[in-house]
Parts: sequence; C-alpha cells; structure tokens
Amino acid sequence: MIGNEVITIDGLVGSGKSTTARLLAQRLGFRHLDTGAMYRVVALAASQDHILPNHEGKLKKLLEDLDIELLSCSESDIVILNGEDVSEAIRRPEISRIVGSFADQLVVRNFLVERQRGVGKFGGTVADGRDMASVVFPDADFKFRMVADIDERSRRRHTELLSKGIEAEYLQVREDIHRRDIEDASRDYGELSSTDDIVEIDTSNWTIEEQVQNIYSLIVSNREKIKS
Ligand code: C5P
Repeated sequence: MIGNEVITIDGLVGSGKSTTARLLAQRLGFRHLDTGAMYRVVALAASQDHILPNHEGKLKKLLEDLDIELLSCSESDIVILNGEDVSEAIRRPEISRIVGSFADQLVVRNFLVERQRGVGKFGGTVADGRDMASVVFPDADFKFRMVADIDERSRRRHTELLSKGIEAEYLQVREDIHRRDIEDASRDYGELSSTDDIVEIDTSNWTIEEQVQNIYSLIVSNREKIKS
C-alpha cells in the first residue's frame, strides 16, 4: 500500500545499508528495523552468559528470556538488552568476530525471523540485513541490495570505529570484513539475498546522502507510476 510499504535493504558489512535504512526510514516516516543489531544482541547476551553457538539448549533458553528493544533516534538507533543500553557494546570488534557463528544457528535464525516479521507485518518499515528480501519479507514492496568494494567498506568501517572511540587497525578491520563476507555468502540459511526482483546498488563512489536520495527517488517515482 502506498505510504505504508515494506522496503528491504540487504548488503554486506560496511555497504552502508544500516545508515541508509535509518535515514530513509526517517525521510519516509517509517520505522527502521536493523536486523543485524538483533543478531549482535544475541551474540552479546550469549557471550555474557558463556554460551557457545553449539549449545543449542542453552541458546533456546536464552532466546526465550531475551528482552530486546530497538528504539529509533534521529542520530542513531538505540538497542536495549534487559533494560541496559548496549548500542555500543554490540558494535565492538569482539562481538563482530563471533556474531556470524550465532547467526549460523537455525534456532537463532528462526527466533529472530519470527520477531522481524512481527515488526514488519503492519508495513511502514525499512528493514536491513542479509536475508530480508529472500527469507523474511519475500513480498516486500521494494527490495534493494547494496554492494561496495571491500577496500571502501573497510575504510568506512575503520573510520566509524575510530569515531566511536573504539581502537582498531585498518588491516585487522579489512581482514575481519573479508572473513565475514565469506560467512555471509556461505551460510546454509539466510545467506545474502539474491532474488530476481532485487535492485542492486553499487555504493563504492557514493556518499550516504546520495545513497538515501537515490533509493528515495526510486520509491517515489515508482509510487507515481502506480498512481497514474
Ligand atoms: O549488519 P551487521 O554487520 O550488524 O550484522 C551482524 C551479523 O549478523 C552479520 O555479520 C551477519 O552474520 C548476521 N546477520 C544475518 N542476517 C541478517 C542480519 C545480520 O545473518 N538479516
């Protein structure tokens, strides 16, 4: 429905998908669903309780008790775990390194996919992640996939970490991104979406503002086509 659509933005680490999704959601007056943040919260909560990815029973119990809140703010999104603001903690390199192994677990994916669909079912949502177009919202109104060169993505992520006061070496960041690209491409369930109806956008030479404007224009021109 025009003005109440579900828009998906899938992409690899550092492609700018989450920031683009947040700004696009603000511009459209939609809610932003950052599904990567949900996987990160699970990884953080599990590591705090010393639960390993293959501890299926313990993971199940952890998920049942998990109290996650995702709040949209103009500057950034805030993530609350059991009443505590963990927005920064979930982005730390040590969580980035382990999150993929938790995202590989079917018990985790099934649980989070269900919650993500619950958020999107009323429309008016911009959801970003890996499997939004293929698994979570196959009937989405608009599907985008953002890609960018690995050096550019590593540079962006390195700058982002430093700006948050998190110390990181560029080469280590690049290596981590390369490893996570392989994980995201080879996952048995929920690998990076590649559907026939997805619009691929290469953001290597674009600023975030250009990415948002471009996607926004595509949505508006499509809405006008539908109306006429
Ligand atoms: O997008 P972000 O880097 O915050 O995602 C963290 C991790 O969660 C990714 O490396 C990926 O392994 C996983 N993820 C996923 N499916 C999604 C979103 C994220 O498997 N829809």
